Amino acid sequence: MNKSLRKAIIAGNWKMNKTRPEAKELLDAIKPLVANAEGNVEVIACVPYTNLETAVAATAGTNVKIGAENVHFEKSGAFTGEISADMLTEIGVEYVVIGHSERRQYFGETDETVNKRTKAALAAGLKPIVCVGELLWERECNITEEVIARQIKLDLYDVSADDVKNVVIAYEPVWAIGTGKTATADQAEEVCAFIRATLAKIYDVATADAVTIQYGGSMHAGNAAELLSKSNVDGGLIGGASLKAADFNTIVQAAVNG
Ligand code: PEP
Repeated sequence: MNKSLRKAIIAGNWKMNKTRPEAKELLDAIKPLVANAEGNVEVIACVPYTNLETAVAATAGTNVKIGAENVHFEKSGAFTGEISADMLTEIGVEYVVIGHSERRQYFGETDETVNKRTKAALAAGLKPIVCVGELLWERECNITEEVIARQIKLDLYDVSADDVKNVVIAYEPVWAIGTGKTATADQAEEVCAFIRATLAKIYDVATADAVTIQYGGSMHAGNAAELLSKSNVDGGLIGGASLKAADFNTIVQAAVNG
């Protein structure tokens, strides 16, 4: 697999952290550190809704792009508490995390709603970061590939080959998220390669080769270089370590050098 066929992407997922002044402070610290990644590695901060406008303004004219952490699939209407894709693009948001395991686990997100949200995001010109990953007991039962194949097929149902090139897949084993337990680089590579093979079956090899596949799950400054050295691991979705500018930058630099 030729990594140069696709864009390396390092994205922070801030989760429910940071007030607006804190968000500006963190982005102001990150911007100069990652400026050298421009043209080589895409750097993204996915931030809470309340921080989006502040984040877009703070990163204007820089190589740091801003993403949201969710999006609703309807354009407008009686969906209290939800935010539409048009509302995000209107303020300059470019990416959106969809189907994060915390959304699936705590907020009833299903593959059907992940698919609807993904299609709505693409239709509005947002680039979805679609999260897939197995539970620990699914890995222990040796059904990781079945689980991942099912998620990929359902989450990308009816997404065209042209559109899927704007989708980022984040492989996030649920047992590794926020737990300090990282998949080994070989485990990450094995599943990311399986995801690419699944994409090749659904679409074709050239399309699969063009899709960026990230690893996420306790990636940090100390393990990023090894994970990112793998041929099917094109980037990272970073939770905890994205809240510290120096750690996040170390991961970005690992991608620049990888
Ligand atoms: C995440 O939130 O997507 C994530 C991978 O979190 P962490 O890096 O903290 O495990």
